[in-house]
Amino acid sequence: MAMVAAVPVLELREVRRSFGGVKAVDGVTISVPEGGVLALIGPNGAGKSTLFALMMGEMALSSGEIRLDGRDMRRLSARGRARAGIGRTFQTPRLFAGLSVGENIAVAIHVRVEDSTPTLESQSALSEVGLLDERDVAAGSLSQGQRKRLELAMVLALRPRVLLLDEPTAGMGAAERAAIMELVMEVVRRRRLTMIFCEHDMESVFAHAARVVVMDRGTIVADGTPAQVRADPEVQRIYLGDQAGQGEST
Ligand code: ADP
Ligand code: MG
Repeated sequence: MAMVAAVPVLELREVRRSFGGVKAVDGVTISVPEGGVLALIGPNGAGKSTLFALMMGEMALSSGEIRLDGRDMRRLSARGRARAGIGRTFQTPRLFAGLSVGENIAVAIHVRVEDSTPTLESQSALSEVGLLDERDVAAGSLSQGQRKRLELAMVLALRPRVLLLDEPTAGMGAAERAAIMELVMEVVRRRRLTMIFCEHDMESVFAHAARVVVMDRGTIVADGTPAQVRADPEVQRIYLGDQAGQGEST
């Protein structure tokens, strides 16, 4: 992240969402500058996936504000936000297992209005993630790592400006985790994207994030550089202390 004051691309202000009595997200304020790469960490149930769903418009806010380039996102549906430039992947990839890799991309492109060059968009997204040779293979027969790559390509085909990745390395071995993070970072740099990613794998977080936000029980408990967050005693207590059991996310 550049060390200059930049206009925030994505702004969350006092974002809240409850489910019955559960305050899943309880007053989260985050502002991400253009080109910022922010990791969102925290134990299971902290509210990370809920926050993603709120940013993407898959779920309504209980209160608070979400802005993209200063524009109020609250009235836009998930499709509307995808068109506005927010793209996201899921903790568990959401693919059509019976369709080919290429067909999955085509389906994803349909959410956009001006799909003038779907074939080109699809080709470049697939080649960026290294799946061009697999375009006729059924998505259901891909490895977990390839599914994550396909899901990334499906988002890239929509030409997002802000990328929200929910656990991009979930379910992978160490080598594959490092490879997919390298790939993601390359894409972010090449396309000059702004990114928030949730991650349990601390190696990925500390290697690639310029800024780390730590959530616990719906609130932000730390927000700073990787070094600041790593040294925070509260963070060590709630999260980093018991990394041994966190290898596989749930
Ligand atoms: P994380 O992604 O950090 O593990 P989540 O956002 O999935 O956390 O969950 C935050 C809290 O909100 C948890 O207590 C979870 O049980 C609750 N929650 C999430 N989604 C729903 C839902 N659709 N209905 C009810 N409770 C939910
Ligand atoms: Mg989650």
